[in-house]
Amino acid sequence: MRISFLGAAKTVTGSCFYIETDNCSFLVDCGMFQGSNADEARNHDPFPFNPAELDFVILTHAHIDHSGRLPKLYVDGFQGQIYATKATSELCAIMLPDSGHIQEFENEWVNRKRERAGLPPVKPLYTIQDAIDCTKLFRSVRYYEEIRINDSIRVKFNDAGHLLGSSIVELWVRENGRETKLVFSGDLGNRNMPILRDPDIIESADYVFIESTYGNRNHIRTENKIDKFVEIIKTTKERGGNVIIPSFAVGRTQEIIYELFKQRGKYGEELSHLLDMPVYVDSPLAVSATEVFRNNLDCYDEEAREYIEKGDNPLDFPGLRFTRSADESKALNTSTESLIIISASGMCEAGRIKHHLKHNLWRKESSIVFVGYQAVGTLGRRLVDGAKKVRIFGEEINVDARVEILEGFSGHADQAGLISWLESFRQKPRNIFVVHGEEESMTEFGQLIAKELGIEPIIPEYGESFMVTAEGVSPADRKAERRERKERYGFKRLEIVHMLDKLKDELEEASAIIRDDLRTDKEDIELDKLLEKLLNFEKYIVEIIK
Ligand SMILES: [Zn+2]
Repeated sequence: MRISFLGAAKTVTGSCFYIETDNCSFLVDCGMFQGSNADEARNHDPFPFNPAELDFVILTHAHIDHSGRLPKLYVDGFQGQIYATKATSELCAIMLPDSGHIQEFENEWVNRKRERAGLPPVKPLYTIQDAIDCTKLFRSVRYYEEIRINDSIRVKFNDAGHLLGSSIVELWVRENGRETKLVFSGDLGNRNMPILRDPDIIESADYVFIESTYGNRNHIRTENKIDKFVEIIKTTKERGGNVIIPSFAVGRTQEIIYELFKQRGKYGEELSHLLDMPVYVDSPLAVSATEVFRNNLDCYDEEAREYIEKGDNPLDFPGLRFTRSADESKALNTSTESLIIISASGMCEAGRIKHHLKHNLWRKESSIVFVGYQAVGTLGRRLVDGAKKVRIFGEEINVDARVEILEGFSGHADQAGLISWLESFRQKPRNIFVVHGEEESMTEFGQLIAKELGIEPIIPEYGESFMVTAEGVSPADRKAERRERKERYGFKRLEIVHMLDKLKDELEEASAIIRDDLRTDKEDIELDKLLEKLLNFEKYIVEIIK
């Protein structure tokens, strides 16, 4: 079979493996690229195959960087089935339309800009309706049930402990009378995560495809993070402020609800009134996601199931409230009572959290509690880094509230977790492909695999293909395959087109700004400098074109 890496190759987003056997072709994951403009531009690339001819898709879990291009695949003609666990299917049914909403919203903004520049409008990557239509293709499967997809392919979903419904996929491919077993780690979770089971151990594989998000790092062990959480809630209530928790709507929010539920049960009379603050989950997506969690109790770990058997619902308690409408959300800002507000987005870049920050950052009696990673360049990161003032909706806001970070809520296994999962294979894999990580993380993790397992792993490039059989990966084919594929589908050309498009956009914007200023007769030395720079730039461009 031929395996091509169409995403999450030397990067963490866009997970997508394209597999062609001698009688069918399919994908494992079809994720969206997220992050830089150049990364996101890849989402608009045509698939390097005909989606109408693709037989099926296997989906490891619902996160958008694994599922987000499925509606595009559907729009481009895919009609096959998407195999996923029941919880993954249900989460996708809310997350993909939400992603469609974001696509439509961002596209409107792009088109306004294009209109000003006299350019024709463009279509969004997909719409809410496309995403809803695409969910018809999902076929829910049970964990540990072996599915025979066709005469030559069997698949089994194991628990990856990363998100509700997340899976490690075992895949058997029969070709020329011999069977090859592939194992896709998906995203691997941590042990002892709230609600979720620990990642399953897999016993054997010919080839393993492992994520490496934390391939070069170990998590800080924070045994007392919950004590700190409780202390923050208590002191904030005593001061009469609010506790604001920016959180990802799916997964992290439910973990926080679960922790709050547990803590309430744990403390005696004298403390319980302090923890008795109303808890608001203020994000429509988080509200829907919590319903999906409540619908899939069979995915819970032993501790969570014990609560259920005792008659409790660990994702519910008196005082837990959900707000869907914008009016309900706004009403929270006029409350005189102390509240705990969990809201999205987790990095404070969009969504209702920005309103809550605007109303609480300047209040020294309130607390902002970060429970997830804050990427460079986000509002969340600026707050975590100790900014004294921030701009929200064009308004400068003082940061007087207490800002805290609770480490240890990561959804990904760290280096130690990843390597011990690999070491637990009873039969050593023939080879290992390292994917889904930043380049430096992959390199370090690759070296560790070589040292600990004696396997020199393969770190594929974006668009790279390998011939994989029961006998081995054929290295001779590697370069030739890659070149052939690049030529066939023009990967390099697409990259050049992307870069030129980006430059064109930026130049158009620059000329628009300067044109707006034409009639001012300001004396400007800056203009001379700019002109000089542009003359140099022109020289470069002429060289490139040559
Ligand atoms: Zn994930």
